[in-house]
Amino acid sequence: MEVITKVDEFLKLRSKYNFSTRVGFVPTMGALHEGHLSLIDEMVGECDFRVVSIFVNPMQFDERADFDKYPRDLDQDLKILRSKNIDAVFVPEVDEIYPFGKNGFEFVLPDRFKGKMCASSREGHFEGVCSVIVKLFNIVRPNFVYFGQKDYLQAKIVESLIEDMFLNCVINVLPTVRDKNDVALSSRNSLLSDDEMKDAEALIRCLNFVDRLIRNGETDTEGLLKLSRDFLKSFEKFELEYLEFYDAVGLRRLENVMDAQARLIAIAGRIGKVRLIDNKIL
Ligand code: AMP
Repeated sequence: MEVITKVDEFLKLRSKYNFSTRVGFVPTMGALHEGHLSLIDEMVGECDFRVVSIFVNPMQFDERADFDKYPRDLDQDLKILRSKNIDAVFVPEVDEIYPFGKNGFEFVLPDRFKGKMCASSREGHFEGVCSVIVKLFNIVRPNFVYFGQKDYLQAKIVESLIEDMFLNCVINVLPTVRDKNDVALSSRNSLLSDDEMKDAEALIRCLNFVDRLIRNGETDTEGLLKLSRDFLKSFEKFELEYLEFYDAVGLRRLENVMDAQARLIAIAGRIGKVRLIDNKIL
């Protein structure tokens, strides 16, 4: 497994692989957990040249403090990846990816994504995701890329970006991996105490609660939101940021969940300063 920090070095390695090679890529911000590993395992099964990147992308953080305290453990990550049949790990510094600093090109998020889920609560977040994805995809030139359903809107935006920018690869979106209490795995979970982890169950418990309400005939999303707010009161440390309902395919916002065949229920909130998200397709 080669560990590469420079774009030029990566391009040199990449040029050895010809058109018949299936190049797979899993972009991550590190602090790897079983959720990342599910994407990596899928890639290893499908591709011949397997690439993982570890890059905490400053452009996608709307709060400097969140970027600073984001968990990082490169030695442990590399140890995990060495056991996984990965060919190359790309671990660039910020200057390597953003050589023009604040004078580099930036993306504008299309209107159809604006105001939805984390696009409304995290200013500039997805514009920063688009920047880093286009740069990383241009460096790695993957045929197959792997993303998690946990970051549903991110996966949808990347899917759209691939199409719009002719990035010429296939995206696979894989199910959310959860811990024994059903909490979605996230690098940020390591920032929570045991006590706070109990309240991190609020997200999936609330999604399951909504699922039960819908099955029992409550289909109006205003009503679902009101009942959910009451339900969430028992998770004292959890502060709801949003609970939103969409048509899972076109991301049209729903007033009544019966207006779509597949619905996306998306939730986000904070425990202290740690922001968590989850979702369910019903
Ligand atoms: P991150 O390191 O948080 O940027 O995540 C890298 C990739 O892993 C993204 O495509 C995420 O959606 C995916 N991912 C994060 N958590 C999970 C999880 N619990 N299950 C499956 N995929 C995940």
